[in-house]
Amino acid sequence: MAYSTTVTRHRTREVGVDDHVVGGSNPIWVQSMTTTNTFDAEATLAQIRRLEEAGCEIVRVTVPKKEDVEGCKAIRDHIKIPLIADIHYDYRMALACLEARTPSGRRAVDKIRINPGNIGGEERFKEVVRKAKDAGVPMRIGVNSGSLEKDLIEKYGFPCPEAMVESALRHIETAESLGYKLMIVSLKASHVPTAVECYTQYAAKCDYPTHVGITEAGSKEYGTLKSAAGIGAILLRGVGDTIRVSLLGDPVPEIAAGFDILRACDRRVTQPEVVACPTCGRLDIDLERIVAEVEEKMKGLSNPLRISILGCLVNGFGEAKEADLGIAAGAGKGIIFKRGVPIRHVKEDEMVQALLQEVERFEEETKPL
Ligand code: SF4
Repeated sequence: MAYSTTVTRHRTREVGVDDHVVGGSNPIWVQSMTTTNTFDAEATLAQIRRLEEAGCEIVRVTVPKKEDVEGCKAIRDHIKIPLIADIHYDYRMALACLEARTPSGRRAVDKIRINPGNIGGEERFKEVVRKAKDAGVPMRIGVNSGSLEKDLIEKYGFPCPEAMVESALRHIETAESLGYKLMIVSLKASHVPTAVECYTQYAAKCDYPTHVGITEAGSKEYGTLKSAAGIGAILLRGVGDTIRVSLLGDPVPEIAAGFDILRACDRRVTQPEVVACPTCGRLDIDLERIVAEVEEKMKGLSNPLRISILGCLVNGFGEAKEADLGIAAGAGKGIIFKRGVPIRHVKEDEMVQALLQEVERFEEETKPL
């Protein structure tokens, strides 16, 4: 379904992270971060495999100690997706990661993430940049509202968007002065309006691709909603080349949440969207069951279909016009629509099966030759 309202994507350069190119017109990748000790390669591998199964496209691991660099070496040969080393405080861990090789001889990490504000000054940052340049390894410059440089806090009085953007631009300039351009940038804040403003201001000034997220978003339920509000607002401004939903606890639910946010914002649709009415007193059928069954059957499909399921004809006709397929249900029966045209009358107990048949037909008809 093509809508007339579209979002123009902020034009960014392309930065390769192993086989995933971030930026430009490439997909907005969904990534996550493990919660294990990276030195415990077995546990970290097990978690990364669960993330891969859930659809994670890039994964980050924490590297606070030398043993964790060893963990990266042990892990990288056994996973399919790019591995990112997350570095805080100790710039030597960044240097070690940039040198590290796996037993098969490949690089142990495909990208590093550093926060230049907390690794002990510009000279150390420069040393990391020089090494990354020599290695040809990309780097995320992760500016965080909680660790801005002192002079910027003094200048602005608070880690406001202007200060965050100035910090990012300052680090970019330093890296560029050394001839390094493989940068991806993040400007994370836990306060949604601040984060949205940071990315908006940044995008008006710079074209290195962005990693978007709302830091410390919180528990699974509220964190998902908060991330949807923040990441969604940023994506709808056309900004964002890779996203991470940060949730407390098991990272696996971050993946579905990331894809759902992309789909809801119509920025990357990788599976069908089922639109359903909230139901009300007009309802005469078991709509919840029907929607749940259809959603379950749609899992695993990669066709970006839009399917609307409505409890009556009040909005049914209008919604059905905007959907690829739809049902407007009534007392014990319903009408199936295809791109706004009624094509079948079905009984309630045949509704799901009939809709699935139409989905199959629709897929066949719209399959690329
Ligand atoms: Fe109620 Fe019909 Fe609207 Fe559903 S589509 S909420 S049943 S009026």
